[in-house]
Amino acid sequence: MIKRVRCHFSGVVQGVGFRPFIYRMAVLHDLAGFVQNRRDGVVVEIEGSDPSIEAFLSDVRKLLPPIADVTRLVTEESPVRGDVEFHITESEAEGTADLHITPDAATCNDCLGELFDPTDRRHRYPFINCTNCGPRLTIIKTVPYDRVNRSMACFPLCPECLKEYNDPMDRRFHAEPNACPACGPRLSLLDGEGRLSESPDPLESACDKLREGAVVALKGLGGFHLSVDAGSDAAVKRLRSRKYREEKPLAIMVKDADFAGRIAEMKEAEMRLLESFQRPIVILKKKEGAPVSEEIAPGMDTLGIMLPYTPLQHLIFDRGFTALVMTSANQKDEPICIGNREALVRLHGIADFFLVHNRDILVRCDDSIAMTVAETPVLLRRSRGYVPKPIVLREPYPEILALGPHMKTTVCILKKNLAFLSPHVGDLETPQARDFLEESTDLMYKITGCRPSRVACDLHPGYHTTKTAHGMEGVESIITVQHHHAHIVSCMADNGITGRVIGISMDGTGYGSDGHAWGGEFLIADECNFTRQGHLSYFPLPGGTAAIREPWRIGAVLLKETFGDQWRDYARKLRIIPEERYYPLIDAITHREINSPLTSSLGRLFDGFASLLGIRGEVSFEGQAAMEMEAAASGCPAEPLPFLIRTGEEGDLLDFTPAVRRLVELRLTGSPTKSLAAAFHLCLAKAFREMAERIRMATGLNRSVLSGGCFQNRLLLEGCLEELRDAGFDVFMHRQVPPNDGGISLGQAVSAGARVKAGLPL
Ligand code: ZN
Ligand code: ZN
Ligand code: FE
Repeated sequence: MIKRVRCHFSGVVQGVGFRPFIYRMAVLHDLAGFVQNRRDGVVVEIEGSDPSIEAFLSDVRKLLPPIADVTRLVTEESPVRGDVEFHITESEAEGTADLHITPDAATCNDCLGELFDPTDRRHRYPFINCTNCGPRLTIIKTVPYDRVNRSMACFPLCPECLKEYNDPMDRRFHAEPNACPACGPRLSLLDGEGRLSESPDPLESACDKLREGAVVALKGLGGFHLSVDAGSDAAVKRLRSRKYREEKPLAIMVKDADFAGRIAEMKEAEMRLLESFQRPIVILKKKEGAPVSEEIAPGMDTLGIMLPYTPLQHLIFDRGFTALVMTSANQKDEPICIGNREALVRLHGIADFFLVHNRDILVRCDDSIAMTVAETPVLLRRSRGYVPKPIVLREPYPEILALGPHMKTTVCILKKNLAFLSPHVGDLETPQARDFLEESTDLMYKITGCRPSRVACDLHPGYHTTKTAHGMEGVESIITVQHHHAHIVSCMADNGITGRVIGISMDGTGYGSDGHAWGGEFLIADECNFTRQGHLSYFPLPGGTAAIREPWRIGAVLLKETFGDQWRDYARKLRIIPEERYYPLIDAITHREINSPLTSSLGRLFDGFASLLGIRGEVSFEGQAAMEMEAAASGCPAEPLPFLIRTGEEGDLLDFTPAVRRLVELRLTGSPTKSLAAAFHLCLAKAFREMAERIRMATGLNRSVLSGGCFQNRLLLEGCLEELRDAGFDVFMHRQVPPNDGGISLGQAVSAGARVKAGLPL
């Protein structure tokens, strides 16, 4: 009996060797018909015997190409047409766009084999790739994914490449970025002024410069990196001073997983993450005496490590390097550089040399960052390798555009049951970053093929994203979502859960419904609404934003709240106030409540405790104090500090003055900093458990959801997981999107979508 079946595949099915794979499977199973790329996925029609069709479908599910991912398959019988052959037909540009553009993928092992094979025609060719690897998102102009729509359009294939491209049995069949030394892009080396080097081997010359300690800008997949030898203190210092980046950790790229294992502790799950085709920067615990410069991550007990993911990077490491700093090429708060000319201008005075090529990068895409918690990968920055693969939601929603918050911004478009997040845009502090927000919004329109008329944004009236939402044309409604509510809904969407939960949102700061700076919130929340059931007791931030840069101000306030007028004595004993003149200043501004906004932020509480512990009184980037607290506490046994829960009109207030009192006593009697830092972490986990238990008593809810930037702290997250699980809660943490503000746009989008769907007033 001959049958014909029409299959519609959606998901990551274009630009990943899916059509050749289907072709080979069809031929293998003796089926006729065709495969075709559509704007909404891939359509396959197969004609043949029943058992062959069954076998085909089962093999297709089992043997998918490595970076393909089928999220949906619909099959239906259709009339037999009497086809005798299977073929690949031209892409169809019509239809509704529902196409999943593929993320960029690291060079595959087959290509690596050829890269280092002296007999291969692509031996040492820095742009080798195939259907299983190479650039995707970052070279795309419009959909569908064909050579004419990509930055490869200016490289016509040579006869040999064309042969591969047209041969269904070849690994490069329809590999859109296919190229070779005869027909593809090539490298060149420029000096700091943009003058072309005469060197016959630009790669070797660039490596020489790196060895001499120069700062070299390397063109990568989603943008330029600034690179220096990671073993050289002088070179790393040079890079830091030119980039005005004093202490913030720098990512490094190492030769291979073996070398990563020599400088950092690595578990199975971390190794898998490091070697995945997404190749994120993985945060790993640094080993004592690791042979890399101390300047890379001063004060930290971790290193951000990644493996080479482009052929060019593999070739550089093949010239004898073990570890290179690879930090995004930008100036502070500006997006990563992608264009050759752009790089020459914006990195002038930072990079000594530029190793560039003539294949354009069309989409800015920073490296992703990840860690593992309890053997589970957690993304801290979701960008290259992951974007634009959508997050699959539990139910469909109306179309929404969400613009994110102000820091670590991403843009999200909700379409049916899929949430498409943009590459990491970052902090919107500069005009360049704001342009990038617009660029990313346009990119998401293109990728999703929709332009939602409903826009979600933060509650903060002054955020650039909020103003952008109000200034957009053709917007039917603007839906505001409170920052910490968005965090919780983001984590729910990340885990595919809906309905009422206990939301524990621990954060830097976000604009609260009462106008104060929230950041330590216990919410009862569903997608649409929330009530604030409790929070960290408010404390003032003397000097407002100055307190973020100078945690000693918060330390002073904590002492004042705990010891009243005696606070000065303790501050003197602890030596936390940098100058005598600040004593009356702190008193004056907190007494008269001048420039001292109230906050319930856990991030700021961390800062305050770090100051009391003498870990740090000033920071050069947000989160630094908390990161050093975590580093100090890591692996140290301790007894939790005490805390207090006060019940008031505003719900349950979590009061850490008992913790301050105990900590100060212990510190003054000589307890080591490490164990006190650990005691603080333990105290938080216990406190959150008790708050959650109270909410459970009152509501019967048993699902607790952890979100917010503070949960980037692995020690805190693991402690909370343990306490809450021990108390019998179902606990949910982030995995696919970051717990920090990079995940906010997803929460905004889903919350807004749910409100529209429920017909709630917006
Ligand atoms: Zn490959
Ligand atoms: Zn060629
Ligand atoms: Fe936040």
